[in-house]
Amino acid sequence: MCDTQSGEMDGSACAAALLRWYDRNARVLPWRIGPAERAAGIKPDPYAVWLSEVMLQQTTVAAVRGYFHRFMERWPDVHALAGAPDAAVMAEWAGLGYYARARNLIACARAVSARGGEFPRDRASLQALPGIGAYTSAAIAAIAFDAPETVVDGNVERVVARLFAERTPLPKAKPYLAQLAARLTPRHRPGDFAQAMMDLGATLCTPRKPACADCPVRGFCRAQALGMAAELPARAPKAAKPQRQGIAYIALRADGALLLETRPPKGLLGGMTGWPCTHWADAPEPAPPVVADWRILPGTVRHTFTHFHLSLRVAVAHVGSRAAPDRGSFRTDFDPNALPTLMRKCWDHAHAAIGDIGAPSPLR
Ligand code: SF4
Repeated sequence: MCDTQSGEMDGSACAAALLRWYDRNARVLPWRIGPAERAAGIKPDPYAVWLSEVMLQQTTVAAVRGYFHRFMERWPDVHALAGAPDAAVMAEWAGLGYYARARNLIACARAVSARGGEFPRDRASLQALPGIGAYTSAAIAAIAFDAPETVVDGNVERVVARLFAERTPLPKAKPYLAQLAARLTPRHRPGDFAQAMMDLGATLCTPRKPACADCPVRGFCRAQALGMAAELPARAPKAAKPQRQGIAYIALRADGALLLETRPPKGLLGGMTGWPCTHWADAPEPAPPVVADWRILPGTVRHTFTHFHLSLRVAVAHVGSRAAPDRGSFRTDFDPNALPTLMRKCWDHAHAAIGDIGAPSPLR
């Protein structure tokens, strides 16, 4: 089996044990062809694999399920998605965050559709497509095409760090952990192996309390033998995120239209529809989008982006039919569900503070 004292590991025996466990315990996921189906000759749909992998970047399986179902129902293949209006895709993506992914999703669908609808099968060609980086190309090649690629996400890094009791902190350890993971990847069933590693990390080898007693690769695991599984992977201390401020402006016209703005395609919430805002900075100047009697609501909306925390105050105003905004436009087709999460929080905050903003209110 393995010798956890000398440090040698029989990688192929470890992979075989993991695959046996996966054959019995694979998670049922809507985009996945399970081991029994694969054994019966059913092939994964590369479109579904690609869509799920893009959605899963920075997001959990639980958060993605509903989005995946809605996308597949509305745009069941890559040609359908390629032909969809940008605004419809962005609205369907609303709430999933990291909106550059949605813009790249559209661009990638159009590129694949233009080449006849076939996704490339090798990593290098996949990486040439919009929004597909090192991780996603490996995942698509392995899962959709059973290519012998090593797929390394946070779950896999954790499992590998523990199997080899690698103490170097993340992120410095990343390249070495990827090498160790490659050492374990079998030539037979690499796609199932990649998914088995992900499942192990998601269900048993979890961050805080790994369930080592139930683990199929317990006998190979050096961290378990050393009693240090829960301490790994080590992580370098994170720098504190800066705090930024801003104001979001919600203007309601007498006919019920709301002032909305489509954000520039690049940058935070790029291409998404939301409320006009000030800059998000240390101490931004007020920047109301239309002349009105603005009222700042009590309380703040808090949101965290990758690199900073944001605290937004929300200003509301009722305006007349001749109001001329200097940015954005008044729209009557407002759908709160099409807002990105931050903008939805602002809308909910306004409601909580003043009741139904669309009905006669103390603002009038
Ligand atoms: Fe993770 Fe424990 Fe299994 Fe090692 S034995 S891989 S620490 S669950």
